[in-house]
Amino acid sequence: TGEMPPRKRVLLKVSGEALMGSGAYGVDQQTVERIAADVAEVVRSGWEVCLVVGGGNIFRGLAAAAKGMDRAQGDYAGMLATVINALLLQNALEGQDLPTRVMSAIGMSAIAEPYIRRRAVRHMEKGRVVIFAAGTGNPFFTTDTAAALRAAEMECDVLLKGTQVDGVYSADPKHDPSAVRYEELTYMDVLSNQLSVMDAAAISLARENRLPIIVFNIGEPGSFPRVMRGEGPFTRII
Ligand code: UDP
Repeated sequence: TGEMPPRKRVLLKVSGEALMGSGAYGVDQQTVERIAADVAEVVRSGWEVCLVVGGGNIFRGLAAAAKGMDRAQGDYAGMLATVINALLLQNALEGQDLPTRVMSAIGMSAIAEPYIRRRAVRHMEKGRVVIFAAGTGNPFFTTDTAAALRAAEMECDVLLKGTQVDGVYSADPKHDPSAVRYEELTYMDVLSNQLSVMDAAAISLARENRLPIIVFNIGEPGSFPRVMRGEGPFTRII
């Protein structure tokens, strides 16, 4: 039959911090618009794209718990922070003429669709950019784990983790000049050496589902489309 081959699908995890730009808190509008332009380029090159966005630029449950707040309550506040970021990203993506849906793991029917896996798949097949908000919907998890979970559910070919560094290093490159960037690591390397890439739950989930992870610097304009063309720098975890 004349069926089209299935399109490739990528999940991009955008940390809350990536939205701050050079600021120390909140959201830098220009940075959000630039990331949206990068997403648009990847969509126009033929990929189906979905996003998981973090909330660390606004609120983190763990940091609040360290100051005495109830952890679960803080985590719910953190999940709401991701919804704020999702709405700002949606606005910027629509500015790029990309049809976009926000799907929230926590019911919020006035501003976002509820997350329903099969409906999300349908959105993606229609070429819409789906932003997954509110993490997994559960406290004690992170948006990295949400990213691995949604990527597995959407049967993505690859999970891209956008950070402030251009990959995984042997030491902190900001403090140790001898630090080297790894080209490739196994999931086990990351787990057993406790490399700070993503939390162990996220890495385990990716490993079980044979989902390759690519860590790259999303703070670098144009890096997302470049990485999708196979151009470095980045670290691949397989
Ligand atoms: N969070 C949560 N469950 C999830 C995802 C996130 O409780 O499934 C909360 C948690 O408090 C976290 C905050 O939301 O600190 C913001 O997410 P995260 O720290 O992962 O954001 P990022 O570091 O990517 O900006």
